[in-house]
Parts: sequence; C-alpha cells; structure tokens
Amino acid sequence: TASDHLILEPHEVSRPDGGHYQVFTPFSKTWRTRLSEPQGQSRLAQVQPGLKQLEKRNRGEDLEKIFKLKWANLLGDTLKTRFEDQLENFSKHNHSQLTVPIPAAGSLEAYRQVLLFKKTIENYAEGRDFPSQNHTSGLSTYLKNGSITSAQIYSLLSTGLQTESTHQPFLRQLIWREFYYHILFHHPRVEVESFIQKYRNINWQNRSDWFELWKQGQTGFPLVDAGMRQLLTTGWMHNRVRMVVASFLTKDLLIDWRWGEKWFMQNLLDGDLAPNNGGWQWAASTGCDPQPYFRIFNPELQSRRFDPHGNYIRKFVPELRDCSDRDIHAPPDIARRRGYPSPLVKHSDQKIIALNLFKI
Ligand code: FAD
Repeated sequence: TASDHLILEPHEVSRPDGGHYQVFTPFSKTWRTRLSEPQGQSRLAQVQPGLKQLEKRNRGEDLEKIFKLKWANLLGDTLKTRFEDQLENFSKHNHSQLTVPIPAAGSLEAYRQVLLFKKTIENYAEGRDFPSQNHTSGLSTYLKNGSITSAQIYSLLSTGLQTESTHQPFLRQLIWREFYYHILFHHPRVEVESFIQKYRNINWQNRSDWFELWKQGQTGFPLVDAGMRQLLTTGWMHNRVRMVVASFLTKDLLIDWRWGEKWFMQNLLDGDLAPNNGGWQWAASTGCDPQPYFRIFNPELQSRRFDPHGNYIRKFVPELRDCSDRDIHAPPDIARRRGYPSPLVKHSDQKIIALNLFKI
C-alpha cells in the first residue's frame, strides 16, 4: 500500500481540538485508540496477504510457485539480464566501500528476525537496557530499509502486544517511532534546528579535536568509547548507549547535537531522520518532550548500572579486557599503559558548564 512506512500516518493522530501532539504520553494514548478503530484495523488487515506469502516462503515454498510468476515474464529476457548485471555491479561497487558487515538482507530475513524475537519478547522489558544482552528486536535496519513494516511486526507479535505487561514496553518503542515522524511532519524545521526555540541560541563550544576523539571512541570514558566503537565496527549501537554517547557529546563535550546526529546518519545502518533527530534532540534536551536539561547522565554511573560486569565494554574496548568488574568503568592508570586514554574531561566540571549553557 502507499502508506506502510508507519502504522498510522502523522496526520491520522490528532488532538481532540484538531491540533497535533508535542508530548509523547497523550500521543500514545490517542494512537492506541486510533489503532482500534476501523482505519487502524484496516491497516493491519492490509498486511495479512504479504505475511501469508512470507510464511510460505519461510516454509521453503518456491517464490515462483507462490507468485505464479517468473522473472522472465515480469521483465522479459533482455531486461532480465540487464537487471541482473546492474544488481551485480551495484553489489560489487558497494562491497568495496563497506567497512562494516552487512546483516542478512531481505523481507524473509526480517520476518525470521521477528519470529526469533517473538520467542524472547518476555525478556524485553527487563533486558532492553543492558547492551551486553541480546534482548532488543534488532529490527531497526529492516524497518529503515522497508524489508518489513511496523504493521507487519505488530501483526506478527500482536497476541498480547496491547495487553501483556511484558509486551507493552516494545509497543511503546514502536509508538515512539511514530511520534518522531509525527513531530517531523508537523515541524520539518527540526531537521535543521532545535525544536525548543530558545535553545537555538545555545553557545556550544564545538571543539573539533574533542569531536574526533568521540567519533573514534577515544574519550577515556569506557561505555562511551565502547558505543562509538560498536558504531564504527558494526554500523549499529544499542539504544541505551546511544543515549549515553549523545548526552556525553552534548553535555560533557558541549558539542552541538547536529554534529553527532550527522555522524550517526553517516554510520548507522538504521540511520533514519525522524528517530535519529528525535533521539538526538531528546538527549540534548532541545527537542519536544526531551530529557530535562538539568538531568544529566553521569557516564560512569550509567556504565556501572547498565554494564555492571563490563562485558559490553570488554567486547569493544580490548585494552580494558583485563580490568576488574569494579575498575572497568573508570580504569586505573595501568590501563593507560595499554594505550587506553585518560578521561578527556572531568564530568562534574563539564556538568556545571552545561547547566549554565542552558540558562538562556
Ligand atoms: P527495539 O528496542 O527492539 O525497538 C523496536 C523498534 O522500535 C526499533 O527498531 C525502532 O524502530 C523503534 N524504536 C526503538 N527505540 C526507539 C526510540 N527511542 N525512538 C524511536 N523509535 C524507537 N532509531 C532508528 O531507527 N534510527 C536512528 O537513526 C536512530 N537514531 C537514534 C539516535 C539517538 C541519539 C537515540 C537515543 C536513539 C536513536 N534511535 C534510532 C532509536 C533506537 O536507539 C533504535 O531504534 C534502536 O536502538 C534499534 O534497535 P532495535 O531495533 O533492536 O530496537
């Protein structure tokens, strides 16, 4: 269908007075109501035939049998060869430029990923904040490139999605995605400037040498560095760590969120304007319904809380592999001898400067 990037289009969710939402919770409430109405239900019904085909393909049925079509019938023999040549050239050219492994592609893989996630969705609420654990769906790249749609995901998981408390947090994330599209649709200027007007004038310090160290995962803050190196080596980063590195760039290094947003878009396989912009403006406290500016993440405490045994850090920052679970969040001098840098800044000092930057 024409409208399948979201479950509900940005203009289909509006306030009782006809205006649009700027706060997530009431948006989410109306979104759920709209979904239960005929328009929402028909959106879910529309994806059923496609899902049936995927189910058949997953059982091993032949594509040509399912669609009763052959490529040659679709494209004609000459076109077919030209099409295949182009595909081959495209993948050859792009493979030589790749710096990260590309996950298995296509709708069938995306479908299988949903089925896999369905088996463990009970762990999502508890586990989703711990980057060393594999409890999130891993669906963002497939959603971004259209291999699967959120309505298909919703339908496949729907038993319990609205009612089970274990499933609610996952549905909530799908609704956050729709919320950020709603905001981008109604406020396209967020693409270039802060949603909150007065924060368009924040005097970011924008030190490019610090920005380079952040990009390379060399800040001396282990969880931040692990996240930035995960991005560089895999093209993906866990959500909790995205929040930490974004907060660190803006509130500790005092760098404009748009620099970080751009770096994410250049490196994320799931890079997607609406949620990326929304995530950055949330962390920078410049967006709609953001993290309040005075609640600043302490990177060391985030690390102790969400990677308590340092397993995520050890995976991406091998210099710290031998640190104890206690030391790994703020490594002692011995780690520096293995080439790991000292902390670029003192968090408590930067926090004071950041708070002052927001007093405008
Ligand atoms: P799951 O936890 O399994 O969530 C399921 C789906 O819900 C995701 O695939 C995604 O489509 C959506 N979702 C989850 N969390 C959020 C969120 N906070 N906001 C909006 N939608 C969400 N997501 C992107 O898809 N593309 C981006 O470019 C992107 N940039 C981000 C930048 C920052 C600074 C932050 C804080 C978040 C960003 N996110 C982005 C949101 C989130 O981090 C990713 O969607 C999530 O990590 C993808 O992993 P998953 O599919 O396993 O997520």
